[in-house]
Amino acid sequence: MKLTIQHKTIVITGASSGIGAATAQLLAQNGANVVLGARRADKLAALTATIQQAGGQAAYRVTDVRHLAEVQALVALAQAEFGGVDVIFNNAGIMPSAPISALHLQEWDDMIDINLKGVLNGVAAVMPIFTAQKAGQIITTSSVAGLKSFPGAGVYGATKFAVRNLMEVIRQESATEGTNIRTTTVYPAAINTELLQTITDEATLKGMTQLYQAVGISPEAIARVVNFAVDQPADMSVSDMTVYPTKQA
Ligand code: NDP
Repeated sequence: MKLTIQHKTIVITGASSGIGAATAQLLAQNGANVVLGARRADKLAALTATIQQAGGQAAYRVTDVRHLAEVQALVALAQAEFGGVDVIFNNAGIMPSAPISALHLQEWDDMIDINLKGVLNGVAAVMPIFTAQKAGQIITTSSVAGLKSFPGAGVYGATKFAVRNLMEVIRQESATEGTNIRTTTVYPAAINTELLQTITDEATLKGMTQLYQAVGISPEAIARVVNFAVDQPADMSVSDMTVYPTKQA
């Protein structure tokens, strides 16, 4: 049984920027094999090269988490390159926040498809493997908007509340079924990434930009807590971790 991060194989979605990219770099630096998925090939190729040039182990595959077959192919790449999969980090997400009254219906669908269905696709891709090997860890990026309600984050928060429930249920079911699947849900507050670029509502973007400029911190903060959760023995789940910038109320 591998008790620490070294030599674990970790599939990361949303690895082309922000939290996913920072986590890939830290985990690879600490000896993990990282397998990177997102839609932008150029970003994934550049990050993979950076990790490999630093002596780390990495592979990538262009992946749209809305499609189960693509997430399954990403997991299959981990098995082919590194002989198995120990952890999936379901991190891909978008945040086109806006008041519900603005009725940005296409963005509602997009958030449900990426932030919720994308996580379900990650779970579905690893569950047969983790069940068979009676070991594995599923880590998912929720949000503080998955813990409490914020104006403008009606649908975004709904997807983040939903994945929180999903992860807790997986934890309980695994305990009952004896499959030893560890679950970790991460709840970041303001982290400076490309996420605000997905906001199309002008007033929301202005308010969020001001907040992030005032209090936001680096995605390495989340990389460190994910690293901590992975680097624990197989008999414990670090189930929930909330991360606020010190300056954020
Ligand atoms: P970024 O925008 O920097 O990263 C989002 C990542 O998701 C990118 O790698 C993007 O890659 C990927 N992605 C988006 N859509 C898809 C898709 N359909 N298929 C595959 N990958 C996709 O933002 P963050 O790093 O901040 O976001 C990461 C997670 O953190 C998200 O789930 C977000 O909701 C969550 N979060 C972030 C907070 C913050 O303040 N930054 C706060 C709370 C939660 P590509 O475009 O190449 O596909």
